[in-house]
Amino acid sequence: MTRAIFPGSFDPFTLGHKDIVERALTIADEVVVAIGVNAEKKGLFPVLERKQQIERAFEGEPRVKVMSYSGLTTDFAQAVGAQFIIRGVRSFTDFEYEKNIAQINRQLTGIETILLFADERYAGLSSSIVRELISYGKDISKFIP
Ligand code: ADP
Repeated sequence: MTRAIFPGSFDPFTLGHKDIVERALTIADEVVVAIGVNAEKKGLFPVLERKQQIERAFEGEPRVKVMSYSGLTTDFAQAVGAQFIIRGVRSFTDFEYEKNIAQINRQLTGIETILLFADERYAGLSSSIVRELISYGKDISKFIP
């Protein structure tokens, strides 16, 4: 059985994230959506709320698990027995950033990172834009599952 983790902040989980998970399910038997918890970066939504939001998005899909973790992503990947890490790429900037982390992670542990390019519909979508809309009291239902 192949297991992948899809790590991120997911503050909040958007349709772009959901699309990546759905596509990752065509590659891995099981995808663990891994919410990275950082004591210094609290985020807008409490981690438990993020977890419940993602679980609702995959209700009835037993191949998706949602967990939170702190510390190194590769330590978490090894702890849950994941063979690889999934990340999404929207832009050149994302690509450059992901490339560096993927190289370090593979040097550290041998774990491979699989990058999936964002679907055109969601390439402009980010959690930070959604948070900004929320701060102006706008309706965000079009952007999140
Ligand atoms: P992080 O703080 O780790 O970047 P995010 O929650 O912002 O956490 O993103 C998690 C992963 O999802 C990253 O690989 C990011 O590039 C990817 N991602 C974010 N938004 C989208 C989107 N709209 N389409 C595809 N991938 C995305």
